[in-house]
Amino acid sequence: MMRLTILGKGTLYPRNNAGGPGYLLETGKIGNSPILFDTGLGTLHKLAKLGVDVRKIRHIFYTHTHNDHICELAPILWYLKFLSSHRPKDPVNKEININLYGPKGFKEYFNDLWFKILGSEEPAGFIASVNELESDEFAIDDLRIKSRPVVHKGDCLGFRVEQDDKVFVYSGDTSMCEGVKKLSADADLLLLECAFPKGTEVIGHMNTIECGKLAKDAHAKRLVLAHRYPETLAIDAKKECAEEFDGDIIVPEDLMAIDI
Ligand SMILES: [Zn+2]
Ligand SMILES: [Zn+2]
Repeated sequence: MMRLTILGKGTLYPRNNAGGPGYLLETGKIGNSPILFDTGLGTLHKLAKLGVDVRKIRHIFYTHTHNDHICELAPILWYLKFLSSHRPKDPVNKEININLYGPKGFKEYFNDLWFKILGSEEPAGFIASVNELESDEFAIDDLRIKSRPVVHKGDCLGFRVEQDDKVFVYSGDTSMCEGVKKLSADADLLLLECAFPKGTEVIGHMNTIECGKLAKDAHAKRLVLAHRYPETLAIDAKKECAEEFDGDIIVPEDLMAIDI
């Protein structure tokens, strides 16, 4: 069984204590380590609150490098660096091994950040591998991961995770596009960015009606509406979305856990 925990339902707006985009996927099988999708504002504190040890997270997937989605990568690297160099006797600190994934351009972004945080010469004390993805498909433990480019301002990915016969999909930031449609087919849990209300068309984002249509056409079982901008917080997003999609629609709060 997979379990998704919403670390941050929000956007770049500081509103209602909502964290920036960050999602924790736990897979419930012994030996599998938790996976993160995006690390927006508040991610580290939310993980601490949940009792999830960042040092044991082996994989972080980034949809794109917009600051609201990636801003806590720097605090994570700094924290891991501190622990591995200043607390070397703790056996957990010797085993830090983190794999990072992002779209085209992610390596350059990471290298710049790494240099600013750690300097060019200083050894990190832990292993970080950095991977750029496009339309890729690979396995992590018993999970099948698929990535597809989606349409946003700059390079952005959506992700699909399959375990046994269950499917979780995260759209990233995107307009309605072929990439997100392909990823979403028959999703048990479809996590969509739902930036804007009905009638508002913004390239690189979706509105409530588009989210509903996408979920309907994909035959999704449950739909999560996240990443709502203030215009969408001011309306009944669920009601608008339900004009198209008659399945289960979840408007989450931070730290809500959803079993898949
Ligand atoms: Zn973005
Ligand atoms: Zn965003």
